[in-house]
Amino acid sequence: MIALDLDGVICNLMAPVLHHIRQEYGAFVYENDIRYYRLEEVLGIPDAWGMVREAIESKEAPVYEGVREGLQRLLVEDSITIVTARPGFLADCTHEWLVEWGLNEYIGGVYFAQLGANDPIYSEDFTIAVDDRTEKLLRYRKTTKKFLFRRPWNQRCLNVEGNFTTVRSWQRLVEEIMLAAQH
Ligand SMILES: [Mg+2]
Repeated sequence: MIALDLDGVICNLMAPVLHHIRQEYGAFVYENDIRYYRLEEVLGIPDAWGMVREAIESKEAPVYEGVREGLQRLLVEDSITIVTARPGFLADCTHEWLVEWGLNEYIGGVYFAQLGANDPIYSEDFTIAVDDRTEKLLRYRKTTKKFLFRRPWNQRCLNVEGNFTTVRSWQRLVEEIMLAAQH
């Protein structure tokens, strides 16, 4: 059972957000400039969440490179569940986005996890969890192998306890998961 995060791992939500910033503020901000997870901090604006919500609802975000091929290969190994911190009221447009990008056929289910509370999903017996947010990854069981998808906003994580295996591409992620499955 593999748990995959959606935004920052499968869905490139940053693309429409950065486009919106250009249009709204005339500021050319690039993905590499987003060095903190909280957009309010990076951009210095009060309602970054509104911008993110719009990007989700517009369903304009592209998939990251190598996602479809990666999901195909992972599905041979194990079932795939998306565990996202998107709020439940965005369930419909999330499912529609997965259908539009032809990804729904690989996904066993989508779980909308509560970020603030101790959501029971993290106690499930996942063999693998992949996320771009360390805070979320650390909630999974000790026995779950954790992959941190490297993005500019999580580069500062020092991983001192060695809890995560860091990957920078889908190709690498799949190779590492295949390797882990052999042990
Ligand atoms: Mg994420």
